Amino acid sequence: MIGKGRKRQETLEGGVALLYKNERVLKVEEIDVGECTSSEDVLAVRVECMDGRGRPDSRLWYPTLKKMDDNLLPDTANLDMIEEGLYLGNLTAAIDTKLLGSLRVSHILTVESNPLPTSITSLPGMSFMYIKVDDMYHEDLLSYFEDAFSFIKDGQEKGNVLVHCYFGMSRSATLVTCFLMKKYKLCVAEALQRVKLKRHCVGPNSGFLAQLATYEVMGWTLDSSNVQYGLYKLQAAARSVMIGYVFINTVYSGETQGLDSKHQSVVHPNPNIDADQGPVAYKCRSCRLSLISLHSLVFHCPGETPLWTDPKWSGRLAKLTLCDKGIFTFPITWMGDLTESMQGKLHCPKCHAKLGSFSWHEGHRCSCEARITPAFYFIPSKLDKCF
Ligand SMILES: [Zn+2]
Ligand SMILES: [Zn+2]
Repeated sequence: MIGKGRKRQETLEGGVALLYKNERVLKVEEIDVGECTSSEDVLAVRVECMDGRGRPDSRLWYPTLKKMDDNLLPDTANLDMIEEGLYLGNLTAAIDTKLLGSLRVSHILTVESNPLPTSITSLPGMSFMYIKVDDMYHEDLLSYFEDAFSFIKDGQEKGNVLVHCYFGMSRSATLVTCFLMKKYKLCVAEALQRVKLKRHCVGPNSGFLAQLATYEVMGWTLDSSNVQYGLYKLQAAARSVMIGYVFINTVYSGETQGLDSKHQSVVHPNPNIDADQGPVAYKCRSCRLSLISLHSLVFHCPGETPLWTDPKWSGRLAKLTLCDKGIFTFPITWMGDLTESMQGKLHCPKCHAKLGSFSWHEGHRCSCEARITPAFYFIPSKLDKCF
């Protein structure tokens, strides 16, 4: 049933299976599964990785597609007008054609695990945008903020917009809050207060609130040169790789797909190929090949794990005391596809000298005691510093 590629499986009570694979134990717990013949029958899977001594290593939740079930829908359509031309509501409202018609809704922004049925998306004269995101702390909504803003703005100019998720409380409320923030240059608290005044039940989860705060710090835009946003994208990509890897090695058997397009931008260009990468920071000590641009370095403060939620990474780095012991970077194209395994070695692409290691999952502890996760770590004695 689960893990076609497994080496050994023990099934315990309560839908819990222990998979023994690659010298690791993956504890996979199905929740509310019933008959499990395809991923769509699984409501959620909890995966607990154990280290070599059987200690819990991490927990991941992987919610899978649940076919739209009328019994699961909130009973009644409900929505609220947040401002002229902008409604926020639940899924039932988004499939209520009478309601949509009476309010002259022309644009629907769906942020949900499933898209709207074609009976709605084929309605003439209407525009739709679909964002596939679950209502979970670690889900990435920030990457969609700009596109969602443009869609809502366009819809408000041309007609009436409905933004909805399942309950109209967390995901859709986050996008509407983001819209008001950017439109009126508001802080998170002010924008959220405006939304709550019109729809009392809204409450974005804490991960979405942190993403809104990051958006505010960046000045209501996605600034690719912002270090905090870089950390955010790196940690989001790591989660995506981890979930994909664990899922493919347990529930599905198949090939890893590499980083999806949304996370591709986290991979930095090769300084040897792209001369616009700015100053080179490190070269290979053995063959002198340029390996790392200055802007591909991931910095940290001594003894402190750098977190994307920390706004100090949006400030001036010159004001911070940075660790100069360990060398950590973003993934760089010359490293190749690093998504086929959770960890491995890094070698020079020219002379093949061993330079360091990477780990999406466990990261690496710097000699200053800070743990960097994910980590693309270089042994300082293998590189020549150029700055
Ligand atoms: Zn080399
Ligand atoms: Zn350090």
